[in-house]
Amino acid sequence: MAQIIDGKKISTEIKDELKARAAYLKEIGKEATLAVIQVGKDPASSIYVRNKKTACEYIGIRSLSYELEETISESDLLELIARLNADANVNGILVQLPLPAHICEKNILNAIDPAKDVDCFHPQNVGKMSLGEGGFLPCTPAGVIQLLKRSGIDIAGKECVVIGRSNIVGKPVAMMMLQENATVTITHSRTNDLKEVTKRADILIVAIGKPKMIDDSYIKEGAVIIDVGIHRGADNKMCGDVDYEKVFEKCSAITPVPGGVGPMTIAMLMKNCLSTIEE
Ligand code: NDP
Repeated sequence: MAQIIDGKKISTEIKDELKARAAYLKEIGKEATLAVIQVGKDPASSIYVRNKKTACEYIGIRSLSYELEETISESDLLELIARLNADANVNGILVQLPLPAHICEKNILNAIDPAKDVDCFHPQNVGKMSLGEGGFLPCTPAGVIQLLKRSGIDIAGKECVVIGRSNIVGKPVAMMMLQENATVTITHSRTNDLKEVTKRADILIVAIGKPKMIDDSYIKEGAVIIDVGIHRGADNKMCGDVDYEKVFEKCSAITPVPGGVGPMTIAMLMKNCLSTIEE
């Protein structure tokens, strides 16, 4: 019987710790402010933005909301970011992705002051994270590490295979697992014989973006499975990149979707935001 890694419970634990920290900071006259920028009205983005604002309210972080027209120019968006960079009352700046096609995502993300880059997408912060120099940690990968640690799963010395090499999930989670002393292999769409590699994993982290692709034929008996994927089916039911039912009996621990990695991402965003406030 597999251990279900409860991301909802663990993320609430973390948010409650942050709430206590925010209350203490308020007592000494300090408060964090997160500026959230959304361009256009993509329904999925609107849900993510709303969830982020709700988490801010819960913890006691002030949130400023910028809901911009789909047609805004790149230069106007850059101007807003420059204003927020210069505003000493703003501690964190978050631009909800994806952006409309006429705006270059890279130009926007690179314009955010690295000291306010709570998503940890700026090359300077990615570099610091890769060198293990501290500072912001990317939210979803940091959430994965917390899920493992707070579920009592040892990482050091374990064989970890990551499926996916995106800049947002696959690459940074692999770097962070390496820093936790796992032996790490990164796989992707060009990997020869994916199953042969994934079956070596004590810890398998799946971030492919393909609903239920990973079944029991990809995993070793007793493996720990972290499913980063999020998909909503035609029936409106959510699922991950892993076929949960098929792997459940074979693995020793698994994150469900929903209620696994998803809630951790926002909790870690909040952690980054509060970390900008010094006592
Ligand atoms: P990307 O599409 O950017 O990357 C997918 C990766 O999977 C690529 O590296 C790709 O390889 C690899 N891949 C695709 N098909 C295969 C295959 N058949 N075999 C092996 N590798 C394959 O996705 P993201 O990393 O952004 O996201 C992954 C999933 O995680 C998505 O479902 C997304 O919705 C979810 N997600 C969830 C978050 C959360 O908060 N829980 C946050 C971010 C993402 P290649 O590089 O060769 O193309």
